[in-house]
Amino acid sequence: MEFQFIHTSYDVDIDGHFGEYGGAYVPEVLRQPLIELEKQYRAAQQDESFVAHVRRLFNEFVGRPTPLHHCKNLSSAVGGAQIFIKNEGLAHTGAHKINHCIGQALLAERMGKRKIVAETGAGQHGLATATISALFGFECTVYMGEIDYDRQRPNVYYMEQLGATVVPVKDGTRRLKDAAIAAMKHWTTNIGDTYFLLGSVIGPHPYPTIIKDFQTIIGIEVQSQFRRQTGRENPDFCVACVGGGSNAIGLFNPFLDEVNVRLIGVEAGGRGTAIRGDHASKIEGKATVGVVEGYKSFFLQNDSGQISNTHSISAGVDYSGIGPQHAYLHSRGRVEYVAVEDSDALKALQLLAKNEGVIPALESAHAVAYAVKLASTLDASKSIVVNVSGRGDKDIFITAKSLIPSKWDEYLKSQIAADH
Ligand SMILES: *Cc1c(COP(=O)(O)O)cnc(C)c1O
Repeated sequence: MEFQFIHTSYDVDIDGHFGEYGGAYVPEVLRQPLIELEKQYRAAQQDESFVAHVRRLFNEFVGRPTPLHHCKNLSSAVGGAQIFIKNEGLAHTGAHKINHCIGQALLAERMGKRKIVAETGAGQHGLATATISALFGFECTVYMGEIDYDRQRPNVYYMEQLGATVVPVKDGTRRLKDAAIAAMKHWTTNIGDTYFLLGSVIGPHPYPTIIKDFQTIIGIEVQSQFRRQTGRENPDFCVACVGGGSNAIGLFNPFLDEVNVRLIGVEAGGRGTAIRGDHASKIEGKATVGVVEGYKSFFLQNDSGQISNTHSISAGVDYSGIGPQHAYLHSRGRVEYVAVEDSDALKALQLLAKNEGVIPALESAHAVAYAVKLASTLDASKSIVVNVSGRGDKDIFITAKSLIPSKWDEYLKSQIAADH
């Protein structure tokens, strides 16, 4: 179950598209660097020492393989199918993002780049990027919208401890979109020595493919762990949450051509209304096709192409677009996309914690919530694998405020009082 490159009938085509989606809609200055990136990436894929290096860091730095855990208590509490969780929360830094950061760091090193630039929303991608930059000795700059910078201080603190420079972006709406523009601008003016490290299966070709390839370790491990643990060929269902879509495609990729495995992506249903700005569900929420951030896909936008605000209790799944391969998988009917509301994600977090001793990230809790609902409609011979993309520690400032509001308030007040 070691890392390898996997090809499916849903891969990107020779022009960098997935059907009508994807592509590289970028300013002229970025055209050549993206062609060069693709060329170098193709060469790396053929290089056994590159592959060996990815495997070694996955095992010896990230702590792979992460476990596939049969949730016997949860399955019997729910009364239906067998639920398994792939616990990416046990990967170093607490989530799956480290997988594509390792791969891209090795690619950057191979290309002779010693500087990394990235954007981050909630800070999880920035944290993983700062981590690998420390490991590789790269100079790391992370752009973060000023609002996110103020709200996600713990992650800013960790990034700085890891040696990264975190730049608050004061332009526009001061959110992820503006951070992305600032990071892209930084890259455009420093292409010679800087690698632009993307955080999900989004952006112009070849990024969605590069990021998918390194995340595919999730599905590779699941397939072999499931076979060993159950003696069965494949699970009946695979379920994962979808922000940009990297942990989901990582789980799904080895199963895309296995027609008997049903694949389900879970988006953020937010407050549970269809109102724009109340959710981040692209597929159920009727997003429309557009070209944003260099690629063509579904985006929540108004009639003139302005990106809409979104809401989710979980910052990792509130992205207003969806990776182009997911748009394609939806249009081909290969993956089903559903939405789960904030309140159900919180309930699922408590259910998994109390029954299995695992506190999932709020993003992952969306997938758990759907899996639990699905399991109750199936019989006990069926099995569902859920990707727990990260662990829940990082969410304490959100979950504690929702789950134990008065105790949490008291705690925060006592902390301030103790300092005076
Ligand atoms: C960032 C993040 C996500 C969402 O990103 P994808 O690219 O859709 O995987 C999900 N879970 C966790 C824990 C994250 O940090």
